Amino acid sequence: MSPRALRFIEIEQEMPGKRDASQRARDFDEIYSEYAEAKAVEQASRCSQCGVPFCQIHCPLSNNIPDWLLMTAEGRLEEAYEISSATNNMPEICGRICPQDRLCEGNCVIEKGFEAVTIGSVEKYITDTAWDKGWVKPLTPAAERGQSVGIIGAGPGGLATAEELRRKGYEVHVYDRYDRVGGLLVYGIPNFKLEKHIVERRAKLLEQGGIVFHKGFEVGRDGTLAELRARHDAVVLATGVYKDRDIPLPGGGLKNIFQAMTFLTASNRTGLGDAVPDFDSGILDAKGKSVVVIGGGDTAMDCVRTAVRQGARSVKCLYRRDRRNMPGSMREVTHAEEEGVEFVWLTAPEAFLGDEAVRAVRSVKIRLGAPDATGRQTPEVVPDSSHEVQADMVIKAFGFDPEDLPALFDEPELGVTRWGTLHIDYRTMMTNLDGVFAAGDIVRGAALVVWAIRDGRDAAVSMHRYLQAKLSGEKEDTDPIAIAS
Ligand code: FAD
Ligand code: SF4
Ligand code: SF4
Repeated sequence: MSPRALRFIEIEQEMPGKRDASQRARDFDEIYSEYAEAKAVEQASRCSQCGVPFCQIHCPLSNNIPDWLLMTAEGRLEEAYEISSATNNMPEICGRICPQDRLCEGNCVIEKGFEAVTIGSVEKYITDTAWDKGWVKPLTPAAERGQSVGIIGAGPGGLATAEELRRKGYEVHVYDRYDRVGGLLVYGIPNFKLEKHIVERRAKLLEQGGIVFHKGFEVGRDGTLAELRARHDAVVLATGVYKDRDIPLPGGGLKNIFQAMTFLTASNRTGLGDAVPDFDSGILDAKGKSVVVIGGGDTAMDCVRTAVRQGARSVKCLYRRDRRNMPGSMREVTHAEEEGVEFVWLTAPEAFLGDEAVRAVRSVKIRLGAPDATGRQTPEVVPDSSHEVQADMVIKAFGFDPEDLPALFDEPELGVTRWGTLHIDYRTMMTNLDGVFAAGDIVRGAALVVWAIRDGRDAAVSMHRYLQAKLSGEKEDTDPIAIAS
């Protein structure tokens, strides 16, 4: 065993420096600084190099974590980067925004008693270093295959598929209705978790590798799925999920009640320098307002923390369960608390009150009853607990559902599940339409970036097999010997 391992007994866990909450609440910059090289080396050396690495088992990409930790601990950073990028198309992005406490780090064996190896921060460090040193290069396919694929959606699912297929020599075209590449990486996730230049440099790299992006191209408006199927040898649907879930409540039509994505997209676009009339006029700006965000997931956390940075007078998060039962990452909840967000646990909205614009959310107290079939305690309303929570801006973060793709794409035969996600054969990632594959949130429902990357990689493997079979089939069809025999 290398002397550069197993040092968790003598070295304590240390995350990269986190900016002071009062300072970071004033801007949209990322909150963690980078490790200095010596610190990354030291932290990586805490790994005990497990024979059965639970961190790897619980990483959706099965990243070879112990190996790149060992390389880092030995100062062999270029090799560490080679290993980490072999299984992950965006390691610097996952290192920043994976909920590591629920995935790799939450399953690190030394977590019990010694606190986990800081896997995400080391992964980010390795890849940021690789970018700085010029080790990250545009891909160069060994040969062009002469077949083309069309990918609908330039989020992480579509981009991972695109990179893997381009690497194999396919002509790759990515169609996206947005004006930028990245999907939710750009317009959903706020800058303080993922600065946009990190996504932009990935997009540029893919373009340099020969991937063609058709921005501002909305399938359903600018073309149909049938047209793309005719244009390409195979197609991938990676369109994500964008239909806001809603709970119809009295007063829901009052002014200043918004859906989470409307609020976050306006904030991200403003940060990117775009003109956003509803933000510029103050409608979507939380500055000086009493903001109430309803919901307990990661999207709700992004909304409360964005409202803080916009200069809200107060920010409350209403959630019907308690802290222990929140679906969001605990790390994000802690960040929000540090930044001054007030959590109103065990509280659910009943109605929105106001004349023209909202002035309060009428709410009820909740107690957690017996566990349901999934094991989660069922929320029950406490009788006579109705009360008002003052608000002049309300943001609803109830989650997202898929749009009606068969109707949108004018493809009634496209199979969907009862949740509206695409029905695929998980062995091949193919939908019920021949040569039409799918990846990411549109298959899983709202999930994680790392799962979208995983799906994209799986879809690419399967498409390669499909395209090769198609090519050999076509050859057989036109081969006079094959036809004669
Ligand atoms: P998307 O990223 O949604 O990309 C889909 C793309 O398809 C979009 O660019 C869209 O414009 C395009 N598209 C859709 N319809 C069409 C059409 N008809 N024609 C052309 N293009 C179309 N995950 C994490 O791991 N960590 C986080 O911290 C995190 N934070 C999040 C915060 C928010 C606010 C949200 C909403 C999600 C967050 N997620 C997070 C989840 C993560 O962003 C998604 O799981 C991931 O982006 C899914 O990738 P995707 O490629 O499937 O879809
Ligand atoms: Fe952990 Fe995510 Fe990196 Fe996997 S991709 S090692 S889960 S941070
Ligand atoms: Fe290292 Fe923890 Fe993974 Fe074990 S589980 S290999 S200690 S990072």
